[in-house]
Amino acid sequence: MIKAIVDYFRSLLLWELVQGLRLTGRYLFARKITVQYPDEKTPQSPRFRGLHALRRYPNGEERCIACKLCEVVCPALAITIESEEREDGTRRTTRYDIDLFKCIYCGFCEESCPVDSIVETRIYEYHFERRGENIITKEQLLAIGDRYEEQIAADRAKDARYR
Ligand code: SF4
Ligand code: SF4
Repeated sequence: MIKAIVDYFRSLLLWELVQGLRLTGRYLFARKITVQYPDEKTPQSPRFRGLHALRRYPNGEERCIACKLCEVVCPALAITIESEEREDGTRRTTRYDIDLFKCIYCGFCEESCPVDSIVETRIYEYHFERRGENIITKEQLLAIGDRYEEQIAADRAKDARYR
């Protein structure tokens, strides 16, 4: 009964409205934390898992030895690899596709790779315009690796897992 009376007087005094305005007023003068993306960007961890890349050794040779560990470990079945033996007896992929619609960016592929070939970069700004562009090919992955190798190597040097 007493609670009902208190609630009645509170409603007459617009008590909830006053509480809401008090909260608004508190934030009116607080430091603004809105980030003006894309002009401003928030800091990124060196362990950020974005778009994939395939890396090469400094002599230009592909790191990937087509062991298919990444394909097996991928929980989303996003990686498709085909391989063949070269004339020099080494094995390399003839196809390395990642379906970015299936990928959940878990990082298992890079964790499993024995030669540090498949990695996830800091890149998160990308889009697709045509059907099928979600399948990223070996050539595209190598091109990303070539372009961002410096940053990839620097990030891995910072990450204790790769020391
Ligand atoms: S990040 Fe995870 S889901 Fe994506 S390709 Fe690698 S293992 Fe598969
Ligand atoms: S990227 Fe690494 S784990 Fe995947 S097939 Fe190549 S060497 Fe094996």
